[in-house]
Amino acid sequence: MGILKPQKPVFFDQFNSWIAERRYGAMLWLAKHRDLREHPHKLLENCRTIITLAYPYSAIKPSTPDGFSVARYTEFPKIDYHNRLRRLAKDLAESIKKWYPGSKTRVCVDSAPILERSLAYASISGFIGKNNMFILPDYGSYLFLIEILTSADLPLLPTLLMKNQCASCSRCIEACPTGALERPFFIDASKCLSYLTIEYKEEVDNITGGQMGKCFFGCDICQEVCPFNDRKSAKEFVLPQIDEWLRMTTEEFDMRFGRTALARAGLKKIRSNIRAIRVHS
Ligand code: SF4
Ligand code: SF4
Repeated sequence: MGILKPQKPVFFDQFNSWIAERRYGAMLWLAKHRDLREHPHKLLENCRTIITLAYPYSAIKPSTPDGFSVARYTEFPKIDYHNRLRRLAKDLAESIKKWYPGSKTRVCVDSAPILERSLAYASISGFIGKNNMFILPDYGSYLFLIEILTSADLPLLPTLLMKNQCASCSRCIEACPTGALERPFFIDASKCLSYLTIEYKEEVDNITGGQMGKCFFGCDICQEVCPFNDRKSAKEFVLPQIDEWLRMTTEEFDMRFGRTALARAGLKKIRSNIRAIRVHS
């Protein structure tokens, strides 16, 4: 956990340059609300403090019995992390309101235009890796980031900005199958499998299918290879086999997966991802 006073995020200028290069694919929302991203206090009236939380997710990869998988952060079969973490953060926000009567709070779990990695970096003892992830040296990067904005004037927790710890390592850049990590700390999101297999509404092409390995929702590769993460590639066979996905009706998908993170892509997109991989198997 970190606590900081609202301030211009450390990496705002880099973010601005990245936006200017238009490497965000169809995620047009990233280019909006730049004023709020630069001045996060504007997200809550009289905001005096920002609390940042880094909450771990499992290193176990949710998999099908026939060798396919999805990104770890889905933590399937748990319900979508947005809902779970919002509930947790709201409990803390309620406590703050009790400790500081009359104060207001706002919880952000990927739900507001806020530079979460920058704020985490400025307040929690971690660093941004060459893969652009926020990394805690003793834990790694399998972390959800949450912010609680409050009008309460909380005492600061002392933090020193940590130097980047990657040294001469460049495993993430070398391992990225699409070349999305063009150089250290710079991603072309329009080439990233996490974008192409979830946010991108069209079908991925067969070339991309060949870069996906067996992961049909998201991509963990630039984190898997990172020496700061748990290198054991434990799997949990919690997903139905691939033929079942291809036969599934929308009603069945909604019933079984509608409350999970997989619902973000939807059945049609998941199926087209699977078909793109299968061309190569
Ligand atoms: S998530 Fe996958 S495709 Fe995206 S940058 Fe990392 S390794 Fe490359
Ligand atoms: S894989 Fe290496 S270069 Fe990439 S973030 Fe991890 S330590 Fe840094």
